[in-house]
This record gives sequence, structure tokens and C-alpha cells, in this order.
Amino acid sequence: MSKIKLMFSNAVYMFKVIWNFSKSLFFGKMLLAILNGVIAPLNAYILKILVEKITVFDWNSTLAVIGIIAAVNLTNGVLQAYINRKLGITGDLFRNHLMFEFNSKVVNMDYEILFEPDMIHMKELAFKTIREGRAIKYLDILFSCISYVISLASIIYLLSSFSWWVYLIMLGLSSIKIYTVIADKKHNYNISVDMAPINAETSYYMNMLADESYANDMRMFSISRWVISKYEKCITKAHKMLESLLSGIFKNTVVRNVLSVIETVFLYTFVASQMFFNNMTFADFTMATSALRTFSDSITNITGSLIDLGENSAYVKIYREFMKKKNTIAVPGRGRNIKELPDTRYIFELADVGFKYPGSEKMVLEGLNLQAEKGKFYVIVGKNGVGKTTLVRLLCRLYDPSSGIIRYMNNDLRDLEYKSYRDNIGVVFQDYKYYCLSIAENVAMNEYDGSEEVIKKISDALNAAGLSEKINSLPKGINTQLGKIFDKEGVLLSGGELQKLALARVLFKNSSVVILDEPSSALDALAEDELIRTFNTALKGKTVFYISHRLSVAKYADKVIFMEDSGIKGFDTHETLLESIKSYRILYESQAKHYK
Ligand code: ADP
Repeated sequence: MSKIKLMFSNAVYMFKVIWNFSKSLFFGKMLLAILNGVIAPLNAYILKILVEKITVFDWNSTLAVIGIIAAVNLTNGVLQAYINRKLGITGDLFRNHLMFEFNSKVVNMDYEILFEPDMIHMKELAFKTIREGRAIKYLDILFSCISYVISLASIIYLLSSFSWWVYLIMLGLSSIKIYTVIADKKHNYNISVDMAPINAETSYYMNMLADESYANDMRMFSISRWVISKYEKCITKAHKMLESLLSGIFKNTVVRNVLSVIETVFLYTFVASQMFFNNMTFADFTMATSALRTFSDSITNITGSLIDLGENSAYVKIYREFMKKKNTIAVPGRGRNIKELPDTRYIFELADVGFKYPGSEKMVLEGLNLQAEKGKFYVIVGKNGVGKTTLVRLLCRLYDPSSGIIRYMNNDLRDLEYKSYRDNIGVVFQDYKYYCLSIAENVAMNEYDGSEEVIKKISDALNAAGLSEKINSLPKGINTQLGKIFDKEGVLLSGGELQKLALARVLFKNSSVVILDEPSSALDALAEDELIRTFNTALKGKTVFYISHRLSVAKYADKVIFMEDSGIKGFDTHETLLESIKSYRILYESQAKHYK
């Protein structure tokens, strides 16, 4: 797409965005643009009339024209202030609206798209477009362009008696100025693109230092110095780029200042020559000097704006492309609602399932076949990196398989309405999150409304998760805040307690399928034993997939899914697998000696 075409399509897109958000904001901004466009040429014209009245010594008319000048400028000022006052809140809401739309897009985006390697960079730039207000700036520039075009047209009309070559010389001088502006902008854009990955790296290290979840590593491995040195390396690289940008900008600023002086000399020489040799009146002289100055400014501004549009075009384009990305999985309303499905014996069936992550050629899972019954407790075991979490992501339909089929109650997952499906699955991920909100809100999440019924459900869930004793011992009970960011009296729970809290969240959700991804990884063998007993009792009647790299949990399973070499090596009871699969036995015995 050519640059002009792109600018135009971006302009149409942004006008549509503001139009759909608020018509009054659109019209208000348009009215401001028109007022800004006419005010300078109008003042130049009234000045000419004023000088005419002064030169014929007509006192009363002079006073009347001064009155008109006052009235015009007062009306303009009051009108602009009024519009700005009226649009103030809407403008702010519009900025938030863009941020909200972006965040909603991210939060609902398929993993397949969001974690695609190219998309990570694209998301960073799209976010920058919004965070730095580039999309809003694009719109503001468009409205400013409307002002400049109105100014230019009015001045050409007022000075229609001037020869074309005067405008041509002014245009020529402005073009050189603009050339230097383009050079600056290009340099600026190239550097900001080069800096995007460095900035991402810098903020990653910064977050690492401040993020509580790294607090243990920082202290125990003394890695803060190491992280800081990585951070400093990034900053040094960024400063080198900034240095080259600043020196380029300095040179071009000097050139532009020299050109402005040449322009002023030309302007005054030309208009004075008109008075000397072409009988120009003093009134026309006054109007011409003022109007030509505005003409020159408008040319510079309009071209500067076009360059700004060009520069921001790349960002708006990326933002548009990001917002345009279509989900293939999370498409609301498509497919059968799982509540409509008739009962079947097998809740899940995997037929020759294979998977590779987007942007990667390596098959992480291959040839998976499995039939899982309703209400059973399955333990998925296997060494780290064998693909257990990936299998769970497929079961949650965060990704679709690259080959083969996953069926839920006899239906291909891809034919089911994704939301009704996901709502029916409760998951405790390995990297589960807790929120700096009350314990009650951490359990009920979006369903928390403070009602008695919800509070009872929360207490039941906490009880079943084995956490009520701890919570009841806190002075504010379930209303205690987690973390200390918003409340000095907030509590910090231990790893095991947080896992129970995550379980309570799943119990509150009351989904029929529960997936627990290494919920006991932070616990010792005894605590793990206690936790799995709690889980086993609390989750009776639900279909449970419990992932662990420790085989000690396998004895609790109705069946064990033993994963090896990207596939399912065995699917049976713990005892049968011990007898039938040598690698399972070896793995079990190598671990068992630690907790026997
Ligand atoms: P496990 O849960 O058994 O430890 P995972 O399912 O987490 O194993 O990982 C299986 C393989 O997939 C590993 O080789 C891992 O590096 C790779 N992997 C995991 N997540 C991603 C991802 N988002 N993109 C690319 N590869 C991934």
C-alpha cells in the first residue's frame, strides 16, 4: 500500500473510531478546526480595513473596526473555551476507550495468535500506539490539517492579486525546511523501532527487580546485581541511539532557523517592493505581511502534519492490524453450547492428537490416543518438558491440536461454543495468580457481589479446600486483603496456602472438569500427601486431571497417564503400569527412594 493510500485509509479508520465513539466529540473537534482555520486570515483582513480607516483619519469607523476585532476574537476565544470545556471529559473517556478496547482485545485473543513470535513485537508496538497517545495524536493532526487547509485557501483568496511565483518561492523555502523535518522524523522512527526490543528488555529487567514473585530468587541467588548489569547494558545501547538522534536534530534545527530568516527577508523585500513600484496601499501592505506569514506557517504546518501522519501511520497501521486479528478459537456464539450435549460414557477422547507451537517446527505432542471417563481422577505424570502442560492447554482449548481430534462428550472441541466449554473447566495453572484484593474476591472473582449466598459459597469452597482454619484466624476473615499493596494489614499466604486458595477458586466455580497443573510442586512430600487427600475429597464426582512430575501421587489416581517422548507411553492404573512399563517403574523407583 502506498504511503498516501495508507495515510488516507488510516484517516478514514480513525474518523470512524471517533465517530462511533461520540458524534458530539467529532463535531466539536471539527468546529474547533474550522475556527482555528479562519481566525488568522480573518484578523489579517480586518487589520487591512483598520489601516484603511486610519489612513483616511476616520475616527468613528476606526473605533468600530477595533470593536469588530474585539468581538471576533472574544467570540472565538469563548467559543473555543466552551467547546474544549464540553469535550474535556469526552476526550478523556475517548483516550480510556482506546486503551480499554486494546486491553479487551489482548485479553480475549487466542493464545495461538497472542504468543506467536511475530505477534509479541506487534503487540508491543500496538500498545505503544495507545500508551503514547499516537492514535489520538493521529486524529488531532487530521483535525489540525483541516485548519491549515482552511487558512491556506482563505489567504490565497485574500491575496489573489499576487503572482504565482511569490507562492512558489515561499513553497520552495518551506520545502527545504520540511525536508529537514522529514529527516528528523525518519531518524526518530527508525530509532524507536530499533529501540522497541531494547525497551521491552529493559522493562522486563525492571519488572523483575520490582515483582514480588521474583523476590525469593533475587535474595537467594543474589541475582539482583546480575539483572541490574543486564539492565545497564540495555540502557547503554539505548543511550547510544538517543545520542545519534539528538545530534541529527541539532543540525537540522540550525538549518531551519537560517531558512526562516531568509524567508522573512524575502517576504519584507517583496511586499516593500510592491509599495515602492506597484502602488500597493499601506492597508494592503499590512494585510499582505500578516497573511503571507500565516501562509508560510500553514505550509510548514501542513507538511509537518503530513509527515507526522506518515510517521504515526506506521503505528496506526500496526494498531489496526492488531485490532483486526481474528480469533479462530475464542469466537463468541459459534458452535454448540455444551449444556445441550447428551450424556456419554467418555468425557474426553483424544484421537491421534499432535501439536506444535505456532512459529515452531518441533512437534511437542504426537499420536496421543486416550479415552477418559466422567468423574474419574486422572494423574498425568512424566518428566519435565514431556508436554504435560501442553496437553492441558489443549484440553482447555487454549490451543487447537495441529493434527488429530479432541472430543468432549462425543463432540469435536472445535464444534463447541468455546465460552460454555471453558466455563465448565476449572484450572489451577502452575503459574496461578493471586490478586491484591480480598480473599473473598480472590475466590469468587467476577461473581463476588457481597451477597449472603455468595459468601456462603466462598466459605464452603474455602472449607473444602482446607483453608478455613487459617482464614478464620485472621481478624477480617474472608475480607482480609491479599498482599500489602493496597492495605498495610494485608496478608501474605504461603505457597501451599495459595495453592489451596486456587483450589477454592475452582471449587467455587463448580465446574465438572478440574485440571490441576503441578499444584503440589511447592510442597514437601507430606504436605503434598495432605493436599492430594484434600483435593481428592473436595473434587469427588468431578473429572480431574492432576499433573505432576512426581509419581508419588499416582497411587491416588483411577488411572495414570504416563507421558514420555512427546506421547502417551502408558494409560492404566499405577500398579499395572509399574508391572508393564519398565521406564515407569524405573522413574517411580528413582523417585520413591526419596520419600520411602
Ligand atoms: P511439561 O509440562 O511436561 O514440563 P510443557 O508442556 O510445558 O512440558 O512443554 C513441552 C515442550 O513444549 C517443551 O519443550 C517446551 O519448551 C515447549 N513449549 C512450552 N510452551 C511453549 C510455547 N509457548 N512456545 C513454544 N514452545 C513451548
